[in-house]
Amino acid sequence: MATRIAWTLACALALGAAGCGESGGDGGAGGDGGAGAEGGHGGAGGHGGAGGHGGAGGHGGQHAPHWTYEGETGPEHWGDLSPEWAACRDGTEQSPIDLSLEVAPSNHPEMRFDYAESPLDLVNNGHTVQVDYAPGSTLTVGERTWTLVQFHYHAQSEHTVEGIPLPMELHFVHRDDAGALAVAGVFVVEGEANETLEVIRAHLPTEAGETADVPTATVDAAGLLPAGHASWRYDGSLTTPPCAEGVSWFVMSEPIYASADQIAAFTGLFEGTARPTQPLHGRHVEGPHWSYDGETGPEHWAELSPVWSTCGEGQAQSPIDIPDVPPAEAPEFEYATASVDLVDNGHTLQASFEPGNRMTVGDSDWELVQLHFHASSEHTVQGASYPLEMHLVHRDGAGALAVVGVFFEPGEMNLALGALFAQLPAPDGEAGAPPPPPELDPSALLPADRAAWRYDGSLTTPPCAEGVRWFVMKTPVAADPGQLAAFTARYDHNNRPAQPLGDRQVLGERR
Ligand SMILES: [Zn+2]
Ligand SMILES: [Zn+2]
Repeated sequence: MATRIAWTLACALALGAAGCGESGGDGGAGGDGGAGAEGGHGGAGGHGGAGGHGGAGGHGGQHAPHWTYEGETGPEHWGDLSPEWAACRDGTEQSPIDLSLEVAPSNHPEMRFDYAESPLDLVNNGHTVQVDYAPGSTLTVGERTWTLVQFHYHAQSEHTVEGIPLPMELHFVHRDDAGALAVAGVFVVEGEANETLEVIRAHLPTEAGETADVPTATVDAAGLLPAGHASWRYDGSLTTPPCAEGVSWFVMSEPIYASADQIAAFTGLFEGTARPTQPLHGRHVEGPHWSYDGETGPEHWAELSPVWSTCGEGQAQSPIDIPDVPPAEAPEFEYATASVDLVDNGHTLQASFEPGNRMTVGDSDWELVQLHFHASSEHTVQGASYPLEMHLVHRDGAGALAVVGVFFEPGEMNLALGALFAQLPAPDGEAGAPPPPPELDPSALLPADRAAWRYDGSLTTPPCAEGVRWFVMKTPVAADPGQLAAFTARYDHNNRPAQPLGDRQVLGERR
C-alpha cells in the first residue's frame, strides 16, 4: 500500500513535467507478440537463463557460451558472445524497460490467473533459482491463454518505475500452444513474510547446477501474486540470452511483500541479476483507455487504474458549477508571442509552450506549459454552459499547477483561435501535409476583463490529481460559430461533468 501511495504521489508530482494528467495519453496498443524465437533454444528454461546451462527442458545440444551480469561476459557483451544472441545487441523490442508513471497501469477485467499447486521442483541454474511448474496453471488475457512453465527471480528488479528499482522481481513465464511467451513480472518489497516464498526458501539449492526436487512439498504460485492485477503491458523480450523478442509482458503495479529476512535469503544467493533497462525504440506501453462515454467514461475512470482512484474518491474535484458570486481580481499575465507545438492527443487539441510566459497572483507565479480545449465548457456558471472552454495549464517551480479557464461564446471571428484550429486534423483522420508550427501570443486568447473565480480543484482528466489552483474567467471570448463547429466536429464532447463543490468555497470579490 505504501508503494501504491508513493506512486500516486509521484504521479501527482510528475504531472506537470510528464503531463500524466491533462495531456492524457493513452498509449496505443502495439503489435501482438507473435510466436517467439524460442523454438530453437528450447525448453521451459528459455527465459530464466537456462538457455546457456541446459536447464529444465533444455535440448542439451550445442554448448552455449558462458554469460554473466558484469565484466566481459556482461549484458553489454551478450550480443557478441554468440551469433544466436545477436538480438541482445541489435534487438529493438528488448526487456526490461523503465516504466513511466506517464502511463498508468491498467486494471484488466479480462485478465485471469488460474494457478494450481505444483510439486516443488527447483533448479539453481547459475543465474537464478527457477521453480519448474507442473502443467495445468494458466494465464488468460481476453482471448489468449498461456500455461505457466516456470518462475524465477531477479535482484534487484529488472523493470524500474520512474528509474527506481525495487528489491526483487519475480518472473512468471507462460507459453501458449504455438510457443509464444507471456511473462508476468511481480515486484517484491519489504513487509510481512510471504508463506509461499518460505516454502521455496526452505529448499533453496545454493550451488549452480544443483536441483531440489521435493515431491513431498508443493508450491502454489497464486500465493506470489498481488491482490490487484493492474499491470503495464508491452511487447518485449527475454531478459537473458538469447534475448528473443515476441514476449508479451505484464508487469504488475501492485507489489507483493516479503520479510527482510526472506529477501536477504534470496538476494544472498543471487544479487546483481538485473539486466539494465533497454530503450523503448518507439514502443508504447499500453495504458488504460479512457473516454467521455460508456464503460470508459467519467463515472468509470476510477476503476480503470489503481492510480486513478482520485477520480472517484476525491473531495476537491474539477470542474464545478460556479455559484452566484462576483469574480475576484484578475491574475497578472506576462505572455509573449512564441511558436507553439500542437498535438491532437486523442482527447483534445493541445498547444505546448516553451518557457517564458508567466502568470502572477500575489507572491505566487507560474509558467505556462500548455493550453487545450473542451467542448462544451467543463465549468458551468449557475448551471449554464458555454460551447467551448480553454484551459491554460501553468506550473510553478515546485511542480504545482494553476489552470486558467476561459469560456468562448459565438460572435466575431477569432484570429488567434483560427491559427490553432487551422491545424485540426480532419474528422476522418486523414492527415495532409503538416502546416508549419503557428506563432501565437496566448494573451490574444484572453478576454480584456480578466477577473476570475478562484477555487481549489483537480485535473479534469485521469488521474484527476488534486491540488490544482483554478482561475475561471467570468468574461467569455468571442469566436465565430464556424470555428466552434470545427472543434466539435473533431471532438464531439470532451467535457467532464461538474463535480460536487463539497466544503470548498469559490473565492470572489469580498462584499
Ligand atoms: Zn527473468
Ligand atoms: Zn482541461
